[in-house]
Amino acid sequence: MSQDNCILRELNLKDKNIHFTDNEAGEWNYFDYRGRGDKRHKCLIYTANLTYSVSQCSDCGFRDCVEHWGWTSTEMRLTGTSLWDVRLALRKQRFHCKNCGNTFTAVSSDFEKNCQISRNTKVIVKQNLNEDMMTEKTVAKHLHISPNSVQRIEYDAIYEGGQYKYQYNFKNNITESYFHG
Ligand SMILES: [Zn+2]
Repeated sequence: MSQDNCILRELNLKDKNIHFTDNEAGEWNYFDYRGRGDKRHKCLIYTANLTYSVSQCSDCGFRDCVEHWGWTSTEMRLTGTSLWDVRLALRKQRFHCKNCGNTFTAVSSDFEKNCQISRNTKVIVKQNLNEDMMTEKTVAKHLHISPNSVQRIEYDAIYEGGQYKYQYNFKNNITESYFHG
């Protein structure tokens, strides 16, 4: 458990449901290659299981009917304290409800659904672009992610910013019509 905490800190993650696994030699990470052609490069890879117990089905609401239902694996992209392209080979727990048949996968506060780039990496992308005035290309190189991913994160941030502004204006209008209407 304390090993988990150390690695979480090292990898800029927080979710205590992530449990790291070591290999037969007792090592917590290893080098492997990723990418094709001139994109092929050395990566530092950690492996972990994402699991927790679920007391209630999110679909039917029944209690004590959710069982473990195998695993699904995804490779996540992290920003650690290392200069390497750091990856997390994450096995995510699958769940099954014995009452309604609903199946679902464990979620982590460190990752958004269907996104392999950690939330913290996204925060750093935004900082690099807005505060450090780095170009998209430099940020991509710096964080070992594609320029397309950097652009997507940037667009999402602009969109979210827009949404917020919209809600804010909407609220203001409501207040105004309440007082003046
Ligand atoms: Zn259910």
